[in-house]
Amino acid sequence: MIPVWVPDGPWIDGVRHAGAMTLDVASPSDGAVFATVGAAGPPDVHRAVTAAETAFHDRRWRGIPVLERQRVLGRAAEALRAHDGELGRLIAHEMGMPETAARYVEVPYAAGVLDYYAGLVASVGGETLPVDIPGVDPAFHVFTTRRPVEVAALITPWNFPLLLPVWKVAAALAAGTAVVLKPAPEAPLTALALVALLESAGVPPGVVNVLPGGDDVGAALCAHPGVRHISFTGSTAVGREVAAQAGQGLKRVQLELGGKSPALVFADADLDNAVSQCLFGVYFNSGQVCQAASRILVHQSQYDAFLEQFTARAQALRVGAATDPDTDLGPLVRASQLTVIQDHVDHALAGGARCLLGGHPLPGPGYFYAPTVLADVSPELSAFQEELFGPVAVVTPFATDPEGVALANATPYGLAAAVFTRHLRRALSISGELAAGTVWINTSQMQSPTVPFGGMKASGWGRELGRAGLEEFLDTQATWIDLHEAPPTYF
Ligand code: NAD
Repeated sequence: MIPVWVPDGPWIDGVRHAGAMTLDVASPSDGAVFATVGAAGPPDVHRAVTAAETAFHDRRWRGIPVLERQRVLGRAAEALRAHDGELGRLIAHEMGMPETAARYVEVPYAAGVLDYYAGLVASVGGETLPVDIPGVDPAFHVFTTRRPVEVAALITPWNFPLLLPVWKVAAALAAGTAVVLKPAPEAPLTALALVALLESAGVPPGVVNVLPGGDDVGAALCAHPGVRHISFTGSTAVGREVAAQAGQGLKRVQLELGGKSPALVFADADLDNAVSQCLFGVYFNSGQVCQAASRILVHQSQYDAFLEQFTARAQALRVGAATDPDTDLGPLVRASQLTVIQDHVDHALAGGARCLLGGHPLPGPGYFYAPTVLADVSPELSAFQEELFGPVAVVTPFATDPEGVALANATPYGLAAAVFTRHLRRALSISGELAAGTVWINTSQMQSPTVPFGGMKASGWGRELGRAGLEEFLDTQATWIDLHEAPPTYF
């Protein structure tokens, strides 16, 4: 089922390497290993960084005229679309996303990101600036240029194994940098498929290198002196380690981390819409979504009605194998995640929460967890505070607007928030009080290549997507040209 054009080992300078060991890739729908890929060892890390450094310095990518680079990224977008069936199947097998969602949501979105950044390639330019120097005639011509950061390490998780690498790679390529991508060990094949398609579209070898491998490969990459920028997406715990490592080497670092995003349902909300949006916000990709709005705060006047409708509709969701076209929720990524979620659920129940639906794993052999609804979850419980990365809705009532806002902000995270109300004044004044990088009003989970995405607080530093995502990979250089007939002298 793995297309022949997908490399099955470290991809460095356009060549497949054997790697130092092997990595088994299993399907979460049945637990069976379906592929074995070569995994990078320390020599591969060094080789990949050196290949990217060489590609940066010999200008094999950033030296190509902008409109041609734009065309290459556009062709890469088309290549993704042309292979949507194979990519969708690969994603479904690697991490358990329903194949229909992978093929018809993740792949087209990733292609759109490449299209968007293709459009920005020719926009990378600087400014001409006036100057003011005490006691000196300001006859200087000063301009800025934007220089791509030198080698960037891109480290990604497994939950959107095509999209998250593309967010980083597309922005980095638009900026003109060269990269080493380290995908999650659970989903290396999709990233390897991506580099094959990029190179088939005309990205020169060595500009995007891919190192399948475990956490140690990511750590070695961050520590490598040739890496000048780290763009990391993953858990907040690992993000702290990456930031510390970046601090040691004084590398630029961008962190897209976890979340525990709230959905605030006010008394004046359209309840039917709020229920629909919250269902998607909790259960899409089985809750394995960084921006999942799984902490639902409902005004006490709507609380019972919301719980009744939400639970009834959650009960109708179909859990099954990722390749089954009727599946709404696929499996979780690994067996151990079932235990993690169960511990949070049990702790919540012991702490006074009520389980209205689910609350247990489903029979295997895959790693399935029942869509779950927990009501009356108090804010000190771990299910309220921590990212569960599973299909668990945590529902809590509130009485006043200030209490709703305080509850929404009462976790260490700040990735996203949803607000459901019919009143514009309330919607906008409440959203201004929410510490969240994204606020959705009367909707949830929406994203676009054109709109910056990222977190506040423990959800991260910096932004991906939009113009802001490109800026992360650019540095500014100021150039001064003296225009004086007789240049000023100082000594
Ligand atoms: P993870 O943090 O365990 O791993 C992410 C990546 O980092 C993997 O490739 C891993 O091998 C690598 N890694 C692990 N230790 C490392 C180290 N010390 N140095 C460098 N690299 C290291 O996360 P995961 O379980 O793969 O993914 C789930 C997490 O990702 C969730 O917390 C989720 O919220 C987060 N996420 C965030 C966003 C966002 O945009 N904010 C998007 C998707 C996922």
